[in-house]
Amino acid sequence: MNYFRTKDTIYIVLMIYKDLIDAAKSRKDELNRYFKILKKKKPKDLDTRFHSLHEEVFRKVDCLQCANCCKTTSPIFREVDIERIAKKLKMSVSGFQDAYLKFDEDGDWVLQSSPCTFLMPDNKCFIYDIRPQACREYPHTDRKRMVQILSLTEKNALICPAVAEITRELLQHKA
Ligand code: SF4
Ligand code: SF4
Repeated sequence: MNYFRTKDTIYIVLMIYKDLIDAAKSRKDELNRYFKILKKKKPKDLDTRFHSLHEEVFRKVDCLQCANCCKTTSPIFREVDIERIAKKLKMSVSGFQDAYLKFDEDGDWVLQSSPCTFLMPDNKCFIYDIRPQACREYPHTDRKRMVQILSLTEKNALICPAVAEITRELLQHKA
């Protein structure tokens, strides 16, 4: 019985995450206009506002019940990431690149397919301890100089329910 209850709970949580992203899609233009203003004004407290919302929202959002980033987008694999992961998997660098990666339009190494090959059925990452830096830092809302990555944050609001919620709060309390 607990098993079914758990499955139901996971389903409800996923629906909530989907609703957060759908709501972010409906606010897309409003967020774009606001971020344009922020890019011009460069408010001094912008990092503080983002970081405190990041802490607050990630206390509620459970990545292991979501994994939408791993399911829908690819991280960039830097050379150092590729070398570290290939070594751990006992593969050559070129063997790893051939098996899993391709160049994107910017010339960066990205996954050949999504969901990510290393995402396991329980939403855990098979290479968690050695995952690419981009995965460790996603969704980047606790970074310094957030003003420099507002365009990326806009895109991530349509992928990550946490960013959807962080940007909703920002819009609601516009300075
Ligand atoms: S970082 Fe965002 S998209 Fe990725 S698993 Fe966590 S909540 Fe989901
Ligand atoms: S390497 Fe791991 S954390 Fe990164 S996208 Fe794949 S499953 Fe997700």
